[in-house]
Amino acid sequence: MKYCSECAHPVLLQIPPDDNRPRYVCSQCGVIHYQNPKMVIGSIPVWQRDGETKILLCKRAIEPRYGYWTLPAGFMENNETTEAAAIRETEEEAGANIELHQLFSLLNVPHVHQVHMFYRATLLDLDYVAGIESLDVKLFSETEIPWDEIAFPTVGHTLKLFFADLANITDGGGYGFHSLDITKPIPRPAS
Ligand code: ZN
Repeated sequence: MKYCSECAHPVLLQIPPDDNRPRYVCSQCGVIHYQNPKMVIGSIPVWQRDGETKILLCKRAIEPRYGYWTLPAGFMENNETTEAAAIRETEEEAGANIELHQLFSLLNVPHVHQVHMFYRATLLDLDYVAGIESLDVKLFSETEIPWDEIAFPTVGHTLKLFFADLANITDGGGYGFHSLDITKPIPRPAS
């Protein structure tokens, strides 16, 4: 049972007049509690030295996907821009100082009611440190990335797109902007 945040009475799932889909409507005060997708914002912190490119990843210390690796990312807060969210999450989860660049990927994940966005970023120094939501923070080259231990499909796709663009840059190309719809849930091992 869900309750109204305005008056604490139970809410009922029903289609309001002039609407076409079920909403949580308060049985007492009539307030409609709309449910909308959440924004998950992160960065791709890049460290380039001596012709080698490495990306900073965080090992998750929280569920879901405890122990799996991810780009620093998290839920956008109210009163915040997407750029500010990317910088804040990178600081919170990886203790990393970054300079933010262009938006690189936008991934719709409709079955979990989320939209994920990742900005390219330059890692400014090596003073990163695991935040409270991370077990470890580490730089990985493309061949070192633990592809089978990536926490979320949006992160795996973003990393693959990033390294594909990077390979093109040496051929005179540039970084693109990529949007993708991820419609399949993460497969779970049979138990
Ligand atoms: Zn109410």
